[in-house]
Amino acid sequence: MITTYRYRIYPNKKQRIQLAKTFGCTRFVWNYFLSWREQRYKEQKLSTTESECRKHLNNILKQQYPWLREVDKFALENALINLDNAYKRFFRHQGGKPHFKTKKAHRFSYTTYFTGNNIEIDFGILAAQSNKNRCWGKIKLPKLGWVKARIHRTFVGRIKTATVKMLPSGEYYVCLSVEHNESVYQNTNTVPANFVVALDLGIKDFYVDSNGTCVKAPKVLFKYERRLKKLQRNLSRKVVGSKSFAKARVRLAKLYQRISNIRKDFIEKQSSKVINENQVIICEDLRIKNMVQNNRLAKSILDVSWSQFISMLGYKAKRHNRVFVQLSPNFPSSQLCSKCGYKNEAVRDLSVRIWQCPNCGVLHNRDHNAAKNLLKHGLMQLGISADHMSKRVGLGRSEPNGNACGDWVSTAEKSKLIFSAANSVDEAGSPRL
Ligand SMILES: [Zn+2]
Repeated sequence: MITTYRYRIYPNKKQRIQLAKTFGCTRFVWNYFLSWREQRYKEQKLSTTESECRKHLNNILKQQYPWLREVDKFALENALINLDNAYKRFFRHQGGKPHFKTKKAHRFSYTTYFTGNNIEIDFGILAAQSNKNRCWGKIKLPKLGWVKARIHRTFVGRIKTATVKMLPSGEYYVCLSVEHNESVYQNTNTVPANFVVALDLGIKDFYVDSNGTCVKAPKVLFKYERRLKKLQRNLSRKVVGSKSFAKARVRLAKLYQRISNIRKDFIEKQSSKVINENQVIICEDLRIKNMVQNNRLAKSILDVSWSQFISMLGYKAKRHNRVFVQLSPNFPSSQLCSKCGYKNEAVRDLSVRIWQCPNCGVLHNRDHNAAKNLLKHGLMQLGISADHMSKRVGLGRSEPNGNACGDWVSTAEKSKLIFSAANSVDEAGSPRL
């Protein structure tokens, strides 16, 4: 199992120059070989492999441009691999044609590999089980030596690669991909098997779950909208390329980063909370709904970042051995009455927040009712009887009644269930009961 850990690093002046050189050289190698491959194809109809590029880089290019030897050689080789992968994706029609990289992007990165002891990490006082949640430490990187770093978590495992990044705000980060045992996460599963939850993701509230808990979204974009506009206006008044332009650009980039940090922090915490408290998590597959071109909602949809939240739920569920089910977007979760199953077309209108079932007369909160339907339907897809579950549905975490209904999903079956549920989303509406 490979996990990536991201740390912020604080390179000194000398290290910053070395980083700028490495970013520049990897970009040069990428651009050079992109045009080399294009030219060879145009003139001689030759397709070029990655090993041919590597030979050319080491035997000819490094003689021609000796400054290429000043930077980490693995970073240059990785640029060739990335270029080759970009071509492969292009030939498989999975992506566009690789294009030239510009130095005006303000977002740079390179990747290097672990060999010998070229990459190391010193966790500082966090290594000694300190009660602090972060501390200063350092990370050793090839050609840079030890770089000061902010350590917020430790890990046990073998470092495979390190990716150094510079963001538009001028901050540096290093992402270490670490190989470790799967048991690191899975020993923590102590949640009773009957703790199941369905989430109805919305715009007004971030989500409402089947227990009726409602979590508000942090409207970050709305909060900072005025400041963003001010900084954007400020930037537009500067002369492009001037010193004050560069300063204004960084100020704007920092605000954008703060917005994305707040958002990410929120969805990280929410997804961890849901995973830590439940064995089975059911939610709607929003991929199609997300694409709805609704200008009025577009800003709000972007602001709540559902897709990131769903992908986090997916990988955290796998990591912690939970069942994560995504239901087809065709399932009319908001229109059905969760008590009698009557389909009320009038609820299609998004402005209907509370409605009464014309059939059984129960009063429904739109989102809570939808979450209850998702739960029922998701359990059916997993092959678990809804009647059997009805005692638990609505009881939720506040009144845990233990393992009254037993462990109905064995650990071995779980991965199978995730797989089958993900593949049978199109068959929604035809429960296997
Ligand atoms: Zn009803």
